[in-house]
Amino acid sequence: MIRSDQGYFGEFGGRYVPEILLPALQELETMFNQLRDDPSFWQEYLSLCQEFSGRPTPLTPLRRLSKELGGAQIWLKREDLNHSGAHKVNNVLGQGLLVQRMGKKRVIAETGAGQHGLATAIMAARLGLQATIYMGADDIERQYSNVFWMRQLGAEVVGVETGARTLKEALDEALRDWAATVETTHYVLGTACGPAPFPELVTYFQSVISQEMKQQALEKIGRLPDEVVACVGGGSNAMGAFANFLEDDAVKLIGVEAGGRSFLPGEHSVRLLPDTGEDGIAQGYKTLFLQDDDGQLGDTHSIAAGLDYVGVSPILSHLSQTGRVIADSANDQEVVDAFKLLMKTEGIIPALESSHALAGGFKRAKQMSPDQHMVINLSGRGDKDIFNIAHAFPQPEWTEFLQREAARAQELENASKGEKS
Ligand SMILES: *Cc1c(COP(=O)(O)O)cnc(C)c1O
Repeated sequence: MIRSDQGYFGEFGGRYVPEILLPALQELETMFNQLRDDPSFWQEYLSLCQEFSGRPTPLTPLRRLSKELGGAQIWLKREDLNHSGAHKVNNVLGQGLLVQRMGKKRVIAETGAGQHGLATAIMAARLGLQATIYMGADDIERQYSNVFWMRQLGAEVVGVETGARTLKEALDEALRDWAATVETTHYVLGTACGPAPFPELVTYFQSVISQEMKQQALEKIGRLPDEVVACVGGGSNAMGAFANFLEDDAVKLIGVEAGGRSFLPGEHSVRLLPDTGEDGIAQGYKTLFLQDDDGQLGDTHSIAAGLDYVGVSPILSHLSQTGRVIADSANDQEVVDAFKLLMKTEGIIPALESSHALAGGFKRAKQMSPDQHMVINLSGRGDKDIFNIAHAFPQPEWTEFLQREAARAQELENASKGEKS
């Protein structure tokens, strides 16, 4: 498993934060360093994942689809079958156990599309912690169903009204809260990014994916797979899928980023390929960031909200520079095609994020031979994202449905106004 050199992976990583946050990060690192080599802690984590989130998740062979493509045998690691529908819950459950060990009672998080906020609210309810989730006011409007569930789970959801009212402003607000409450509060980071020790710590918990994958491949295939493919947003599901294979040189590791509409600035979220991301320090760490000519963080686009991010795990920046991880990308059209193909040939509804891994994987699998094996990490399910997916596949029926729903909502609002007056 990968270990940092004092928080660095090659030239990437580190801890670039205001002085006031250093003690909390050091406390977290000390706790993590004590527990990461303690088998009873890993066992406690596995038990929680098993009892609460349905682990181990299956390794599913795609027999019909592999035959149709005519190349490698493709298997899916089914992170979509986790409680709450994606791999994100693995990381938050692990951090929840650390919070308990540190004796803290409150967690905060920031969330864009709401998935990480929802996972954090679920963990806090389960472990009896207080949760505050920061979310841009525009994102609250766009993702109201997640906000509803977070509130029902007992979390406080704070809308951030400043700036563009999205993830970036929510992040600033969450850091402000943390600086003021750091003695009682843990900041739950949602992906393998940010200041040390988060990239390593999130990878540690997500490595349960490749631990299971390896054992399942040995049982079902009789050997290790030839390739493991994952989509890359911040990099947590990819690092989880790769972690236990890093020393198995025969296993190729492929990270697929969001190619979006084109490679023009602002139309994609590709950071690892040549001529895309550039070295930079922001948001507390050093990695390859998308930047404009003045070195400001650049604009990004992806049809999958979870891949729409300007930075990337410093571990992946390092591993792609050393060549251990092969960076690839899939554009919006390829993603939609892969999404449809998986549904029609196998009856599985993938998240749009995960469909990038499918698209990248399918392209490669076609060039491989039928005696080779590929595992694609299916990071999440798509049915919970019905409105986002409907947006990616505009259809007249959908537009009509949304208009009817909006009219119904208006009626409800009028009725409640009538009651009040
Ligand atoms: C959040 C999310 C991602 C992207 O996050 P990583 O940290 O890169 O894994 C990918 N897939 C799904 C389903 C997600 O919800």
